[in-house]
Amino acid sequence: AKDEGRNTLRFFDPGMQAAVDRQAALSAALRTGLARRQFVLYCQPQFGHDGSLVGAEALVRWQRGADELVAPGEFIGAAESGGLIAALGMDVLEQGCHALARWARAPNLQGLKLAVNISVHQLRDPDFPQAVATLLAATGARADRLTLELTESVFARNPADLVDRMQQLRGLGVHFALDDFGTGYSSLAYLARFPLAALKIDRSFVQHVDNDPNASSIVEAIIALARKLHLATIAEGVELDAQQAFLTAHGCDVMQGYLLGRPVALDEFEERYGRPPVP
Ligand code: C2E
Ligand code: CA
Ligand code: CA
Ligand code: CA
Repeated sequence: AKDEGRNTLRFFDPGMQAAVDRQAALSAALRTGLARRQFVLYCQPQFGHDGSLVGAEALVRWQRGADELVAPGEFIGAAESGGLIAALGMDVLEQGCHALARWARAPNLQGLKLAVNISVHQLRDPDFPQAVATLLAATGARADRLTLELTESVFARNPADLVDRMQQLRGLGVHFALDDFGTGYSSLAYLARFPLAALKIDRSFVQHVDNDPNASSIVEAIIALARKLHLATIAEGVELDAQQAFLTAHGCDVMQGYLLGRPVALDEFEERYGRPPVP
C-alpha cells in the first residue's frame, strides 16, 4: 500500500520520470485497483422521445481512495495498452449485469436498458461472447436489456472476425450501439454489415446543433441515415434546451446529457430513479 502511494505521487509529477515508467506504475496501480475492486459504475440516464426514462449508460470510475475518484479518460488508454482492459471490462460488465438483474425486480426500473462501453480489444477475444453468456446466466440479467457500445475503431481491422463475434452476441439477445458516430473514419458500408441497433450522435455535433448550420445538417443527415437503416439514434452531450428542442423536432429517439441528468453513482441512480413518481 505504501508503494502504491509513492506511485500515485510520481504519476502526478510529470517532470520527474520518463513516460514509460509512469505507464508501468499506472499499470501496476490498475492491477492492484482491480484486485481491490476499486472500479465502480456511474450511471447517466437516457430519455426517450416523450421524456420518459428508458435506460442508462454505465461509465466507469476508479475509486482510488476515499476522496479520489479518477475519470476513465485517465486510465482506459493505459488499461488498453497494458493488457488490462479485458479484466476491467469484465468487471464493469459484471457490475452492469448485476444492476440489470436488480432493476428487473424494482417496479420503477424494470424496463430500463443499460449501455456498457466495450473496448475493441475485448471483442478481439474469441471467448468474449461465451464470457458474456456466462455472465448473463450467472446474474440472471436479460440479454435484451444489455447494449454494448462500440466505437468505429471496430471497423478498422479484421472486421470479418468481429462481425462474427457480434453476431454471436446478437444471438444471445444483446444489442449494439455505435458510439461517437461521425468522429471516426469508417466507411458507411460497414453500417449495414454490422449488427447494430443504434447510432450515438457524438457530442461534438450535438454541442452545435442550435448555432451552427453545418452541425445541424450533419445531425439531420445522421438521423435520416439511421432511419433508412432501421437504427435508433441516441444523442449524447445534450446540455441546452435549444439542443434538446432541435433533436426532438428532428426525430432523435433517445437523449442523454447534463441537461437531463449527470452520471451519478449506481446506488444514487437507483435511489433517484427507482422511486415511485411523486403524485
Ligand atoms: P463516452 O462513451 O463518449 O461517454 C460519454 C462521456 O461524456 C462521459 O464521460 C460522460 O460523463 C460525458 N458526458 C455526458 N453528458 C455530457 C454533457 O452533457 N456534457 C459533457 N461535456 N459531457 C457529458 P466519462 O464518464 O468521463 O467517460 C469518458 C469516456 O471513457 C467514455 O466516453 C468512454 O469512451 C470511456 N469509458 C467510460 N467507461 C468505460 C468502460 O467501462 N469501458 C471502456 N472501455 N471505456 C469506458
Ligand atoms: Ca459511450
Ligand atoms: Ca459517446
Ligand atoms: Ca463522444
